[in-house]
Amino acid sequence: MFYMTEERQLIVNITREFMEKEAAPVALEHDREGKWPLELFRRAGELGLLGIPFPTEQGGLGADWTTFALVYEEVGKVMPILGIALGSSSILAGGLVSTAGSPEQIEKYMVPANKGELIFAGAFTEATGGANFFEMQGHADPDGDDWIINATKLFITNAGIADVYLVLVRTGELQPGTANGFTFFFVEKDTPGFTVSPPEVKMGFNGNYSATLTFKDVRVPKENVLGKAGDGLKYLVVNSPDEFMAVGALTLGMAEGAYEMALKYSMERMQNGKSLFDNFQVTRFKLANMKLEIEALRGLVYMAFDLRDKGVMPPEYGRMLKIKGPRVAEYVAAEAIQIFGAPGVVFGTGVERFWRDAKINFIAGASLEACQDALANYIRGNYYKSA
Ligand SMILES: Cc1cc2nc3c(=O)[nH]c(=O)nc-3n(C[C@H](O)[C@H](O)[C@H](O)COP(=O)(O)OP(=O)(O)OC[C@H]3O[C@@H](n4cnc5c(N)ncnc54)[C@H](O)[C@@H]3O)c2cc1C
Repeated sequence: MFYMTEERQLIVNITREFMEKEAAPVALEHDREGKWPLELFRRAGELGLLGIPFPTEQGGLGADWTTFALVYEEVGKVMPILGIALGSSSILAGGLVSTAGSPEQIEKYMVPANKGELIFAGAFTEATGGANFFEMQGHADPDGDDWIINATKLFITNAGIADVYLVLVRTGELQPGTANGFTFFFVEKDTPGFTVSPPEVKMGFNGNYSATLTFKDVRVPKENVLGKAGDGLKYLVVNSPDEFMAVGALTLGMAEGAYEMALKYSMERMQNGKSLFDNFQVTRFKLANMKLEIEALRGLVYMAFDLRDKGVMPPEYGRMLKIKGPRVAEYVAAEAIQIFGAPGVVFGTGVERFWRDAKINFIAGASLEACQDALANYIRGNYYKSA
């Protein structure tokens, strides 16, 4: 492949071995029992997989974003929820710390997070407003040298497991037409007034916790403000394409995982002395179309990451990957279930897990429709710019 180098291949090989030997044997058990993959998370940290694109001064690997994508593709093939756990800590939350953290915050939080010794969660979503943060009710008010946080955050990934929560709340009056007035705070897990609900029981992402966080008069010192008070939403806007791109790479791996299972099954399942593949044109066409969609997604993923590495990626590519990746993964997984027939719908066969997990990627992080809406806005803006 045009994007493969010797260095990247080395990290891919390490990831592949880790996923095959350590994650694959327990992946379905985590799905069935809804068990958070703490041991695998720590191992990923030891292997350097949590800090791939972050500078070595921050305890990261100092590699590029294409390497990051290759690793997430490998993780997605075997155990999507591990990718969600890693990405929520290292990209969703860690990316913000890497961008805006003070030297003290980098040392205290980012360095151990890059080694997998500290787990982050990023908390933005509330009951009102959905993707529209301007309706956010959670707020923090200054009190001497401290801030007092009152908020309720829903569906937060890594909840109950994370050591440190990066919480976005309102800290000022809304200024129409600007992103001012929002601030990120570091809240450590044992801070008085902070509680986590039991995890939701979901249709997919089993083994990755999503829960409600409640902050009732939670007092934090001013040192817990990420970057500059009032600039939180700006940091999120800059960082969100990376989170969306991670979904693109992970869902590419998920589609490949489902495709590989279906291809193997179609070659091995016999009827009238012939495999499904040889018997039925409809099965061959399904696999051909699945392959086509996977390769189209691969092209988009690695083009976007290449542009990201060169520093010239238009921000809308993040949204494109967040839309296209889950769509391809869901389509391929649904066709894979069909090729399996009855075993495909049995919980725990493995192939249906890809479909359940793919569907959640239509919503988690941002709904597909909200991403399409944002993409349409970029299109309109560029049209007016070029007109
Ligand atoms: C498994 C999981 C993990 C999550 N992890 C986190 C986390 O770690 N941190 C965090 O802060 N949040 C997290 N979330 C929350 C997630 O980001 C939100 O659920 C998501 O942004 C959608 O918001 P909502 O659920 O409020 O839906 P709403 O905004 O109420 O949207 C409902 C539906 O309305 C439509 N819609 C909404 N907006 C638009 C639009 N602009 N244009 C067109 N149609 C639209 C879509 O069909 C959408 O599905 C997670 C959610 C899930 C399910």
